[in-house]
Amino acid sequence: MLVTEQESGALDREACLRLDAEDPLRELRSRFELPDGVIYLDGNSLGPLTTSARERVERVLREEWGGLLIAGWTEAGWLEAPVRVGDRLARLVGAGPGEVIVSDTTTVNLHKLAQAALRARPDRKTVVTEAGNFPTDLYVTECLERLAGQGWCVRRAAPEALAGSLDDDTALVLLSHVDYRTGRMHDMQVLTRAAHDVGALVLWDLCHSVGAVPVDLGGCGADLAVGCTYKFLNGGPGAPAFLYVARALQGQLVSPLWGWFGHEEVFAFAESYEPAPDVRRFLTGTTGVLGAAALEGALEVWDGVDLLQAREKSVGLGQLLVRLVDERAAGLAVEVASPRDPERRGSQVSLRHPLAAEAVPALAARGVVTDFRPPDLIRFGLAPLYLRYVDVWDAVEALRSVLAGLGRPG
Ligand SMILES: *Cc1c(COP(=O)(O)O)cnc(C)c1O
Repeated sequence: MLVTEQESGALDREACLRLDAEDPLRELRSRFELPDGVIYLDGNSLGPLTTSARERVERVLREEWGGLLIAGWTEAGWLEAPVRVGDRLARLVGAGPGEVIVSDTTTVNLHKLAQAALRARPDRKTVVTEAGNFPTDLYVTECLERLAGQGWCVRRAAPEALAGSLDDDTALVLLSHVDYRTGRMHDMQVLTRAAHDVGALVLWDLCHSVGAVPVDLGGCGADLAVGCTYKFLNGGPGAPAFLYVARALQGQLVSPLWGWFGHEEVFAFAESYEPAPDVRRFLTGTTGVLGAAALEGALEVWDGVDLLQAREKSVGLGQLLVRLVDERAAGLAVEVASPRDPERRGSQVSLRHPLAAEAVPALAARGVVTDFRPPDLIRFGLAPLYLRYVDVWDAVEALRSVLAGLGRPG
């Protein structure tokens, strides 16, 4: 890894600039419209605007909606957008064509796939998820427990005790691949196999994985997955989420939310529901064309990007941040809350500090955008396509000066 090669030499700002000059992904930064004077370390909450997303949306507004009106549904390909954009995204999660669609929100997609999975295992009643999962994932499982008459129950296991908490009553295992607070990453292969060993289906939430770490749903034999596209994929605020259903399961699972876009013939206007034979059965209603267009434009940036190179850069940025905090922020009451082993961490590093809630706005005032997660975490999202090693250096320098100021009495 780039940063560890430097281990023996002194690490200074010049060394970071040299790493940037050698970075094989350095040209990609110019495809992003980042405001001047900002070091943006919050792409794990909302990815920045790309030129290709802006241009795609402008074209839809002017030429398609503005020019074609209703004909846009067929002539501009709006109808096929969920499948077309899903196919474009598929490579980033190790899925094949026809296994991914974009639609609705991550929350709605979780409801659809979790219920479909439970109904496909009628002799089993337990959903296993992890304590500390993202709130919406926990609320979805609470909602499952309340659905009248189903008798479903939810077990929240500690993340390290997941495999041991599965048994022959487990119908579904619902996990976030990368933890939103600390970036701790599960071994998808191992946990998918553990779920299958007891006969359960597994549903992965990839919100903090897609565009951040390589994901191989197909290679892991994963059944189901969802994720949002406005974080590391830069699809824009509220961009449509995606869902994945392994091809072999598509005919067996039935969506709990029936709508006309999931019908086998949308424009037959039939009076009774017949699910589409493929993944489109998990569509509900009319596609949000503008949101899908922004996402489609943003995905252009990923074309031709070697995902292992992106991972190597993300690990390089993370290891640099950890090393600089260790070396230069020692004595400032700050501690690394993420796993130090990059193999066990997504594309973020979280630091713990008792005054984190004050440090985050103070950093933002200096142009370093991070975010705060209660009670004491500062998250640094490390998006490999537009961040530079020198940004990490400058961010740690800003952090040192902010923390030193906070510590001062009066
Ligand atoms: C961001 C995030 C979500 C967001 O869900 P929405 O329905 O898009 O609001 C869900 N799950 C996880 C793990 C997330 O990080």
